[in-house]
Amino acid sequence: MFERRVILVLSAVGAIAVLPFAVIRLWQADWAIAVLDSIVSSVFIGVFFYVWFTQKTTIPGVILSIFFLLTAVLTVVLKGPQNTAWLYPSMVGVFFLVGRKWGVVVNVIAIAVMLTITWNDFAPVARLTLLLSTLATNAFAYVFALSTAKQRKLLAEQARRDSLTKALNRRAFEEQLAWLVSVHQRIHSAPELIIFDIDHFKAINDEYGHDQGDRVLIQLTRVIESRLRITDQLYRIGGEEFAILPLETRPNYSGCLAEELREIVAATELLPHRSITISAGVAAHELDESVEQWFKRADQALYRAKAAGRNCVEVAPKQTHDSGIKHKRQA
Ligand code: GH3
Ligand code: MG
Ligand code: MG
Repeated sequence: MFERRVILVLSAVGAIAVLPFAVIRLWQADWAIAVLDSIVSSVFIGVFFYVWFTQKTTIPGVILSIFFLLTAVLTVVLKGPQNTAWLYPSMVGVFFLVGRKWGVVVNVIAIAVMLTITWNDFAPVARLTLLLSTLATNAFAYVFALSTAKQRKLLAEQARRDSLTKALNRRAFEEQLAWLVSVHQRIHSAPELIIFDIDHFKAINDEYGHDQGDRVLIQLTRVIESRLRITDQLYRIGGEEFAILPLETRPNYSGCLAEELREIVAATELLPHRSITISAGVAAHELDESVEQWFKRADQALYRAKAAGRNCVEVAPKQTHDSGIKHKRQA
C-alpha cells in the first residue's frame, strides 16, 4: 500500500515536472531534449496508470528509478553541467522506490557517472562539492527511509496486537481465520480452532475489582503463551475470550492442547486463594465451510462446555452433510 502510494505520487510528480519542459523544448525546436522529455513523461504517465490499475509495484519502482536517474544524467549531457541539481530529487525518490540497499548502490553509480561526464566542466572544488553534497543527500535519505520503514513496521505490528495483554487481536484473528479457510483446499489436514473463555470472570471483577481483573487477563496470557509453541498463535478476540489457531497437521492436536491448557490454568494461582478456570470449544474446519460457520461450531462447542459445568473442553462433532453431491448414488 505504502509502495503503491509512493509510486503513484512520484510518477505523477515526475510527469507534472517533465511535461512542461517537453512542451517548451518542442516549441523551441530543441529536438534531442524534446524527444527525451516526451519519452520520460510518457513513461511516468504509463507507470502511474499501470500501478493504479494493477496494484503491482516492484517492476514499476525499478523502471521509475532508472528513468529518474537517467533523465538527470541525460539532461546534463544535453543541456550542460548547470543541470546537475536534478540529481538530488531523483536520488531521494530512488530510496523510496527500490529500498535502502539498492538505493545506495544505484545512487552511487549515478554519482560516479555524473562526476565523470562533468569532469572537464568543473574545477576540483566544484567536483568535491558535487561529490560531498550528493553523498550527504544519500546519507539523509538513507536515515529517513530507515526510520520510516521502522515506524511503518511498528505501526503495522501495533494494529495487530491487543493493548492490554499484547496478544494478537481480533483483526489478526479474522485475517488468519480467512487465510486458513482459503488454504485448506491445498493442505492435507484440516485447520483447527480453539476458543476459550474465563469462567465466571464477571464475579472475579466484582469481587477483586477491574484492575485485578486486568492483571488476571495479562497473567493468563503469559501462562498460556509460555506453554504454546511458536506455531500455535494466541489471539484475544473479546473481553475474556481468546482463540488459538495452531499450525499443526496432527488431527485432534487442538483437543489435546485445549485440555492441557485447561489443566495448566486450573493449577495456576492467578489470584491468591481463588481458583480460576477456563472452558474451551474446539472445531476442525470442514472443506465446504465458511469462516462464519467454522467459528460458529467452535462457539457452540464452547457454549456446551459452559453448560456442562465449566472448566472443561468440548470438541465440535463433524458436520454431516446431506448435499446430493457427496451422497449421490451411482446410476
Ligand atoms: P461465563 O463463565 O459464562 O463466561 O461467565 P462470565 O462472568 O465470565 O461471562 P460474562 O460474559 O457474563 O462476563 C464477562 C465479563 O468480563 C464482564 C466484563 O466486565 C469482563 N471484562 C471484559 N473485558 C474486560 C477487561 O478488559 N478487563 C476486565 N477487568 N474485565 C473485562
Ligand atoms: Mg467468561
Ligand atoms: Mg465471554
